[in-house]
Amino acid sequence: MRRIESWLLNLQDFVSVIQAMNSNLNQRRHFASDNYAGICPEAWQSLAEANHGHARGYGDDFYTEQAADLIREVFDTACEVFFVFNGTAANSLSLATLCQSYHSIICTETAHIEMDECGAPEFFSNGTKLLLTPSIHGKIDLAAVERVIKKRNDIHFPKPRVLSITQCTELGTVYSIPELSAVGDKARELGLKLHMDGARFANAVAAIDSHPAEISWKAGVDVLCFGGTKNGTHVGDAVVFFNKALAEEFAYRCKQAGQLASKMRFISAPWIGMLKNGVWLKHARHANSMAALLHEQLSGFEELRILFPRQANSVFVELPSGVAQRLWDQGWIFYNFIGSGGCRLMTAWDTTEQDIYKLIGDLKEAILAR
Ligand SMILES: *Cc1c(COP(=O)(O)O)cnc(C)c1O
Repeated sequence: MRRIESWLLNLQDFVSVIQAMNSNLNQRRHFASDNYAGICPEAWQSLAEANHGHARGYGDDFYTEQAADLIREVFDTACEVFFVFNGTAANSLSLATLCQSYHSIICTETAHIEMDECGAPEFFSNGTKLLLTPSIHGKIDLAAVERVIKKRNDIHFPKPRVLSITQCTELGTVYSIPELSAVGDKARELGLKLHMDGARFANAVAAIDSHPAEISWKAGVDVLCFGGTKNGTHVGDAVVFFNKALAEEFAYRCKQAGQLASKMRFISAPWIGMLKNGVWLKHARHANSMAALLHEQLSGFEELRILFPRQANSVFVELPSGVAQRLWDQGWIFYNFIGSGGCRLMTAWDTTEQDIYKLIGDLKEAILAR
């Protein structure tokens, strides 16, 4: 009898924990970043399924193998796949592996590797220099790339080695297939390897309704940092080497940088739930369509200025003075430091139409109250 009582007490504890979780879930969703969202149900389920019994450590397990196979299936090619904790690690370690310390990497001024990685690409490559070019709505300007490369070719200048682009870009735009082919051709012509920061690669595939291969290796991408976190996993991005020769000894680099998880299955397994049945694209399409709705709603205000074409899951907007502060005061969270000064409103796999209408309602009030 006593045993049943204590079991019931445990059950009560369990129920109150679940209730607390649910009330957290009911908290407002924000527009700061897609990484504010939680773990999507499919990734969560795969995590739970991986949590049975024992599995080999350090990525030598069934789940990691299956996740890597699914990535090869998605890209329809025999690529080399590595899982690391986050996008900064994926970018900086893959760039470091493409470069010697005397090389340089060409990217835009707004690139995440320049603005948001605390110098990690330079650090892990032992000093490889980033050479910046202006961007056109976040996209690389190929004429500017050519100017940077051709300006100097003497021994005093860091030797250009990699062209790095971001898909979707940091300003929420998406390279089309012809644009990517032009980038790939230019990289080859200039003797550069092509690196793609794909923290939001899923949103790009969904946005232009393309095959993942078309906007990666078929366009000349040598290595893709394929983001999972912003699309709905808890942690972990994949480094995908289409040029397999470049993956040589990459495993050592990951280990040395503290990026080889001993319980790797809990980084790789969520990818199984994401990649099966096109779940990753379902979530990306949803996030994109919520941004489209947000864009449509924002376009109705003549007091606002939308900054860049809305192509994926963000809208950049310039708000009248005092309006952003009012929204922040009401508890909304969004950034105003990404790109060139406007506010970035970002949607995620779990953003709802109600979230958008709530924000728009508060925005209306904030504008009237100015
Ligand atoms: C979020 C993001 C990354 C990865 O950032 P981490 O915080 O290191 O995971 C990389 N590139 C871009 C463009 C991003 O938006």
